[in-house]
Amino acid sequence: MLEARQVSREYRVGPSAVAALREVDLRIGRGEHVALTGPSGSGKSTLMHLLGGLERPTAGRILIDGQDAGTLPAGRLARLRSSVIGFVFQSFHLQPQASAVDNVALPLVYRGVPGPQRRRRALDLLDRVGLAHRAQHRPGQLSGGEQQRVAVARALVTEPAVLLADEPTGNLDSASGEQVLRLLEELNAERGVALAIVTHERRIADRARRRIVLHDGRITADTGTEW
Ligand code: ADP
Ligand code: MG
Repeated sequence: MLEARQVSREYRVGPSAVAALREVDLRIGRGEHVALTGPSGSGKSTLMHLLGGLERPTAGRILIDGQDAGTLPAGRLARLRSSVIGFVFQSFHLQPQASAVDNVALPLVYRGVPGPQRRRRALDLLDRVGLAHRAQHRPGQLSGGEQQRVAVARALVTEPAVLLADEPTGNLDSASGEQVLRLLEELNAERGVALAIVTHERRIADRARRRIVLHDGRITADTGTEW
């Protein structure tokens, strides 16, 4: 469903270039549960951004649901991305002035879904992550774990086939981290949402069915696909 073919990504920093990813081949299929690990700076976030079509590779190709992300006009890429992929980031990325329900509904605004319908769907999702009673709270009035569950609800509101989660528990205490992790794993097990999770915690990686290790921009280990 997401595929990288011989993907490299360089960043220019002044006169020099940093090779963040080097000729990576990777396929993530429907319903998979993948953990991506590796030292800081090994290219994990870069790979997530590329797979998710948020950034373009310097070389190689990214396929999203079989479509070459590199050849799509920006508008079509954005629509494809939002229908296939949900993102969860380490630092939540919520709108501070908007209530939880409005944050969750935001992706539907861009899709032109009418207000009452957006609200109903967003409330459904908040209920699913156990936060129906916090719908009117702004992010600053929620705990870190609650904010991340709002972010998960927002990622799910467009019913994506895959969730890309970049250190989703990195800013959480272990109890709320565990709650967010369980939520993500439940979505994978019960609803078949593919889950690719970046983590540097061995304990979390070991819970995934497939584990991939990055070093210095290359995949150095992959326990393999399941299909
Ligand atoms: P990880 O998520 O594994 O810690 P990253 O993908 O964030 O690693 O970064 C991989 C490498 O690319 C690092 O050396 C990092 O410094 C570099 N890098 C990432 N983003 C940028 C950027 N926007 N500009 C310059 N260098 C970057
Ligand atoms: Mg990172």
